[in-house]
Amino acid sequence: MDSTDYIAKSSGSSTPLEDNINVVVRVRPLNDREHKARDVSITQFPGNGQLLCEGQSDTNKAKLFSYNVVFEPGATQEDILHYSGTKRLIEMAIEGFNATVFCYGQTGSGKTHTLTGPPELFIGKKHDLNHKGHGLIFRSFFYLFQLLQQRQENTQFILKASFLEIYNEKVIDLLNPGKARRKPLAVRWSKKLRGFYVENLFLVDCEELDDLLAVLEEGMRNRSVGSHLMNDHSSRSHTILTVHITSEQQAENEKSVFISKQGKINFVDLAGSEMTKKTHSEGKTLEEANNINKSLMVLGYCIASLSDHRKKNGHIPYRDSQLTKLLADSLAGNGVTLMIACVSPAKSNENETINTLRYAARAKRIKTKPLIIIDPREALILSLKREVNSLKVENEHL
Ligand code: ADP
Ligand code: MG
Repeated sequence: MDSTDYIAKSSGSSTPLEDNINVVVRVRPLNDREHKARDVSITQFPGNGQLLCEGQSDTNKAKLFSYNVVFEPGATQEDILHYSGTKRLIEMAIEGFNATVFCYGQTGSGKTHTLTGPPELFIGKKHDLNHKGHGLIFRSFFYLFQLLQQRQENTQFILKASFLEIYNEKVIDLLNPGKARRKPLAVRWSKKLRGFYVENLFLVDCEELDDLLAVLEEGMRNRSVGSHLMNDHSSRSHTILTVHITSEQQAENEKSVFISKQGKINFVDLAGSEMTKKTHSEGKTLEEANNINKSLMVLGYCIASLSDHRKKNGHIPYRDSQLTKLLADSLAGNGVTLMIACVSPAKSNENETINTLRYAARAKRIKTKPLIIIDPREALILSLKREVNSLKVENEHL
């Protein structure tokens, strides 16, 4: 069977990314351990972006969920790039929007696999570019450069990339970990940028595709080296790889004016979603819970506030965690976001799978309006030039 058959059968009827927050679900295959334990799959794929969760325990009845796209266990890494809507996000980042792709789900559900592929790809010498395990970030970089090359004739692009980790509310630079692990970086508000930024974060100039690939490779290597208990660490930490794209384009009919646009795309590998539940279920105080995973909880609050239409003009608590500060410009007014909810098909994971599917369904109800960011200085020059021109025209008619 061709790999795309798996998607064709279950794709949503709408084109992905019609809205500003789109949600797709990826169901991983049952793994060896689950097969050996005679675990069974409880997910079914009726088509049209729907997912049926059989719910075999007494408390869980069968539930039908609806998303933009549902990827069945046979979907390939290339399928995720093609059918998730990520390509449109990359196009929008080039056009000056803030775009974010985040993977959400319990530990072991396939978040890291989806974004970066198996960790072995980043160990040892130069990796095999054609390896079918390469994840969405790697594939997105190729697509991005393909687009930039097509548009290079009348536009100049400047690319910079960063890669950070948030662990226990501390921001660590994965491209400069030695220094940062001793002294976490500060997240600050910038009036000029109209957003939050990480002070002293390494921003690597990326002129070529290889430069971007090196950023991914270096960050992945540092992520695994930095911790003794890799699984525990990665299930409690978030990583954000960001590509900042600045474009300078000559204005039509105004050769002396350059329009500068600044967009970016974030790839976010979130901490395991079971962490939020742990903080509630163990009856901890908010303070203690915060230490386990404040960012993931606040992301949940932000999504709930955004999707609750009664609270449309209410307070969205972006400032309450490092993760939501850094994602605020994508989640709020001027961004586009893709949530990839990763789930296990196994009966033994039923409760976590239902939690993730509910969280994802709630996120789908959010609607915001994206705005393009044009450098305000350039926008002013352009509008003044237009004014001068129209005055000239008026004068000619006097
Ligand atoms: P997470 O990052 O959500 O904790 P991982 O991405 O590390 O989970 O996945 C857990 C294990 O399952 C890994 O060994 C990974 O290779 C495997 N896996 C996850 N998703 C898939 C998939 N779609 N196809 C094949 N293997 C997968
Ligand atoms: Mg992971």
